[in-house]
This record gives sequence, C-alpha cells and structure tokens, in this order.
Amino acid sequence: MITPPQENPTEEQLAAWRERRRSIGAAVGALAEAGICYQCRDRETGGEILGDQDVILDEPDVRAVLSLDPRAPGHTIVVWTAHVHDFTELTEVQTGRLFTVARDVARAIQESLEGVARVYLVTMCDGPVNHLHLQLIPRYVDSPIGSDRLVDPRGPVLDGPRIAAEIRRAYEATAAHD
Ligand SMILES: [Zn+2]
Repeated sequence: MITPPQENPTEEQLAAWRERRRSIGAAVGALAEAGICYQCRDRETGGEILGDQDVILDEPDVRAVLSLDPRAPGHTIVVWTAHVHDFTELTEVQTGRLFTVARDVARAIQESLEGVARVYLVTMCDGPVNHLHLQLIPRYVDSPIGSDRLVDPRGPVLDGPRIAAEIRRAYEATAAHD
C-alpha cells in the first residue's frame, strides 16, 4: 500500500495540465463534429489523441487507466473496447465482465492506496459521440460522504506511474478470485 500525494500541484504542473486538457479537448471536439469517436481513434492509433496514459489493466475487451483529469488520486476510467454508446447496449455476459472488472479494480484501489474509504462508480456517456466507460472515484477518509465527490475539482495526475503500478499489482493479486 502506498500513500498517494496529498500536496497541491505546482503552477508548472497546473499549466502543463491545462495545456494538455485544452489540446485534447480541441482534438476530441473536432472528431466529434465529424462523428468520429475519440476513444476508438486513440486506441487504433496507439495514443494519437490522449497520449501516454497510466495503465492499470489492458486486455482485449476492457482496459483501465488513471483519469487524465482526476477528481481524487486514483480516479480511474474503465473503458470497454468495443464501440457501444453506454452500458444499456451490453449483453448479460458483457455486463458481467465489465462490472466484474470494475469491482476488482475498485477493490484494488481500496487495497493499494492509503486512506481510501470507498470507491464511487459513475457512468454517464452522454455526449454527442459516446463510448462506454465507467469512472471509479475514490472517496478518502478525510472527505465528506456524498455525491459532491462526483463533481470535486479536477487537477493533474500526480505520481501517476507509481499509483497505477500499485493498483495494478493489487488487481493482479486479487482479481476474479470470487
Ligand atoms: Zn468508440
């Protein structure tokens, strides 16, 4: 278990994050106007849109990465590989697979990051071009309980490779044991 960084980002980290966000937002917006899914394009091109990400899990049907704009350390995105708009389009087997992975990654977040009290799950997929993904947002012991955690301010990823590696280690140690 590791203690995620609790300090505030530096001005340089914030500036770099804002620029990356602006650039990704512009690319995603242009693709959406053309009716193209940025998640599919990013996967097909090996990261043309989103660049390097902190990967927790990368399997043919599903992957989990740290959010590029986390609301809390360990905020994770679980992305279904096939292009479907949201979870209502999944079969029973696919639903089981996706939500089992989400459960196991949530457990791994709790087991690997000091201070995580609960992990919230949210999925909206409500933009002009949608690609199914789930968000796992840790709620830390010093944060109040409640849905305000779903709209906490976003910020840059701090110590992403170490956090992702620790969650991955816990995931691989415990996934699908029951
Ligand atoms: Zn897609």
